[in-house]
Amino acid sequence: MSMFQRPIFLSARSHLARRCSPLPGFSPVARNPIATARLSTRPRPTTIHPQQPPQPQSRPRPFYTTPFFTIPTAFILGYVTYTFTTTSTIPYPINPYSFTPHVITSTTPLSPTSSLITLSPKQPSTPPPSFWAIINSEGLWSVQIKQPQLQIQREYTPLPETLVNGGAGDDQAAKGKGRRDRDVNPDNQLTIFVRAVDGGEVSPYLLSRKPGDVVEVRGPVVTYTFRPEEVSSEQEKDIRNVVFIAGGTGVSPAIQLTTYLLSQYTKDGKKRQVKILFASKTAGEKVLPQIQELQRLGDGSRGVQVSIEYFYDDKDTFIKKPDIETAVLGLDMGNGGGNGRDVIMVSGPEGFVNHFAGKKGWKDGLETQGVLGGVVGEILKSRKQGGKIEVMKL
Ligand SMILES: Cc1cc2nc3c(=O)[nH]c(=O)nc-3n(C[C@H](O)[C@H](O)[C@H](O)COP(=O)(O)OP(=O)(O)OC[C@H]3O[C@@H](n4cnc5c(N)ncnc54)[C@H](O)[C@@H]3O)c2cc1C
Repeated sequence: MSMFQRPIFLSARSHLARRCSPLPGFSPVARNPIATARLSTRPRPTTIHPQQPPQPQSRPRPFYTTPFFTIPTAFILGYVTYTFTTTSTIPYPINPYSFTPHVITSTTPLSPTSSLITLSPKQPSTPPPSFWAIINSEGLWSVQIKQPQLQIQREYTPLPETLVNGGAGDDQAAKGKGRRDRDVNPDNQLTIFVRAVDGGEVSPYLLSRKPGDVVEVRGPVVTYTFRPEEVSSEQEKDIRNVVFIAGGTGVSPAIQLTTYLLSQYTKDGKKRQVKILFASKTAGEKVLPQIQELQRLGDGSRGVQVSIEYFYDDKDTFIKKPDIETAVLGLDMGNGGGNGRDVIMVSGPEGFVNHFAGKKGWKDGLETQGVLGGVVGEILKSRKQGGKIEVMKL
């Protein structure tokens, strides 16, 4: 059975565990053969035995000596390998088990420290038309990008090409372009919003890449399943209202989520609401095109009412407890009477998540949600009445 007939991807393993452990296959054992090979290439000293019989005089060497064959053969093999690895078709543009080379096709600076980066698989691939649609409808997902010199990886959250029709674009426009309805990403591109973290190892590396440079990508890694299998009731599976507290690039999953909710409306006609509290470093940063689209499409006419409130460090505006309380009340969360799940999501750097929802935990080497705390914890504890509100730390 192919991987995408049953879309089970890498489970959300611990982010920190992945940081601390070397990449699979990059163990000290794997390094040793290289060292050994280097040693064995040293020229061995020639010893001449005194009693050794005289050697026959060497004959003139024929033209068909080993180098005569090996050099062109190596050249041809090298060419074939190069041609094969650069032009042959692969089944999937990304897979969770191995890194796939991707070429940077464009970089759009949004501020001195952040960019929108688009990647395309180096080798052409022929995934089934539902490939990206399945991934987008499974949950919030990210890819891992490798820093080749340090052999470390970090997660980045791809943004949909467009928010309409599950990322497929407007139906009419899609048909006009001759696209199949479910072909949500025909060019198999990945677009990521990256901010360079001071002293970071992978994010400055990514920001310094230029169009044409190659990076290695593995995934998808699903960090939050939209319709958890363990929940039996259809209504409880369904996401109804979301308050999304985002810090910096932590806004990317909010875009994935809204795209999913917009596509859900086209299936079930149920209305939903998303309130995003978006904290960013500077008001000078250009707004992501996907956020502009989110504001345009989230007027409720497509079933999802989206509102975004901005907070900027350089304007001394910060998300405060009353902002979250107002958002929760405004969406009438926890009072749905079984009409679906109400979720507060907190997404951003570790300190940001700790402040708003408490630290994540650890169990058996895997990252867990930990105990609910922080500002959201206080708000939910002080609620006198109302149903359940789920909290998710991303
Ligand atoms: C599921 C998931 C999805 C992610 N998606 C994105 C994304 O779409 N775009 C994106 O830019 N990042 C994203 N990240 C964060 C990303 O994986 C890296 O952690 C980030 O780029 C920093 O990596 P680094 O190697 O440069 O820094 P590191 O070497 O890991 O860290 C250097 C220092 O910076 C601190 N630090 C790490 N991240 C941040 C931060 N964001 N803000 C402030 N300080 C920080 C660390 O605690 C450390 O002290 C995501 C993380 C996860 C877990």
